[in-house]
Amino acid sequence: MTYIYKQYINGEWVEASNGGTWEVINPATEEVVQTVPYGTADDANAAIEAAARAFPEWANQTAYKRAAILKKASDIMRSRLDELARTTTLECGKPLSQSRGEWFTAADLFEWFAEECKRVYGRTIPSRVPRKRMTVIKQPIGVVGVITAWNFPAYNTARAWAAALAAGCTVVAKPAEDTPLTAMEMTNILVEAGIPTGVMNLINGEPAPIGQAMLDHPDCRKISFTGSTEVGRILMEGSARTFTRLGLELGGNAPVIVFPDADIARVAKGAVSTKYWNAGQACTGPQRFMVQESALQQFIDTVVPAVEALKVGNGLESDVAVGPIINERQRGRIESLVMEGVAHGATVLTGGSRPAGMDKGFFYQPTVVTNVALDQRLYHEEIFGPVMPITTFNDVDEAIYMANQTPYGLAAYVWTNDLNTAIKAYEGLEFGLVGVNEWYPQATEAPFVGWKASGLGAEAGAEGLEDYLETKLVSIGNIR
Ligand code: NAD
Repeated sequence: MTYIYKQYINGEWVEASNGGTWEVINPATEEVVQTVPYGTADDANAAIEAAARAFPEWANQTAYKRAAILKKASDIMRSRLDELARTTTLECGKPLSQSRGEWFTAADLFEWFAEECKRVYGRTIPSRVPRKRMTVIKQPIGVVGVITAWNFPAYNTARAWAAALAAGCTVVAKPAEDTPLTAMEMTNILVEAGIPTGVMNLINGEPAPIGQAMLDHPDCRKISFTGSTEVGRILMEGSARTFTRLGLELGGNAPVIVFPDADIARVAKGAVSTKYWNAGQACTGPQRFMVQESALQQFIDTVVPAVEALKVGNGLESDVAVGPIINERQRGRIESLVMEGVAHGATVLTGGSRPAGMDKGFFYQPTVVTNVALDQRLYHEEIFGPVMPITTFNDVDEAIYMANQTPYGLAAYVWTNDLNTAIKAYEGLEFGLVGVNEWYPQATEAPFVGWKASGLGAEAGAEGLEDYLETKLVSIGNIR
């Protein structure tokens, strides 16, 4: 299939209004994959205006008509998983099987929201006043700006686009600079599926002015943002002035609490495949490994050889388990976190540097570190890379206390076969997604929620659709 890699505004594929361009780099080879338009606030404003014009008709379309287009897009994605996955791997480096899985989930999201939008129900409320009727209805918010991160270029976008479009909102989307091609292919597919003019718009360009344009334009009623807590804070500060609704899916610093009654060897093996998935660049990715003192040695003895067996390389090669870091800046940040940790007494058990002989590409060796002090950045900052810091705890109360000592509250993991410990832990953890004896506490049909500095609102699940709807009370009085 031939895709168009441009902005899509008001039903047309266009270059940037200022003529700007951006080179998309393959992080495994440092070669240019594609040159794409790179615009600014003018492109955002043109797209918001097109989306505002298209909104009344899309909002008043039956849910069944909207659903048919979204379902068709989902079917097209499923029929082209291999070619779509290749583009995602080329621009963000992850192994092909992971890109394929991500597109599969993107298709799931479009299909699920196509179904769920048929069930946007209101309710009637019995009144305490005679001759009065109260009805609550749900209506789409309006134009939604969607800003997404590069780590899951198909999943992050689909999660927000599918819900917003299903709810009857029109969309102005800005993908991450490093990974616009996946979003462009998804837009091509929506066009092929028959999305009407102005309903879906894609812009690409300078993040701060575009974010500001979304905040400032009175027709942009909500921004759905997936990215760092720092940028989430900028948007919150802006929206305090404009009252733009916000959905924020931000950073995490997931604790993994391993109790000694768990099957330690099994947990350790699962820890390796989950931690180094997407080279550790996952917001829900396990980060602070907290292993009870008595289980520490067995955990380390299983983890280290399993990590050393992971093949690092270009995600297009079939046996590669860990691809590159997205760019030089992110790799430098990870390196400095590890070096600083070591300077303060942390011990590197394996990795801790760039892989030998790989001069091209932003690779970093899968790394395991122990003796990490709790005041280290390596422990309390989001690493967002293939580094596993391991610490210990004594009992469940200390584990919960340590786990909660973070401004983040996205994912947390608990491994135990003791029911009482499990309940005490999941009830005490201040996180929106808690996995008990599992590594994947998320699903298309379940809410994805960050507590504290990890977010605002929900994406996915019924809650994810609700967040693109306004609630209206219609009160009819004096009925004769
Ligand atoms: P980032 O905040 O730098 O960028 C995210 C998006 O925001 C990009 O599209 C970027 O261009 C844009 N952006 C940057 N500055 C902006 C500004 N001033 N105004 C408006 N938009 C701006 O984050 P990143 O480094 O691309 O992504 C990694 C972060 O995203 C991590 O913290 C990760 O945990 C988080 N994340 C969270 C989730 C979630 O669902 N909670 C999912 C994926 C990633």
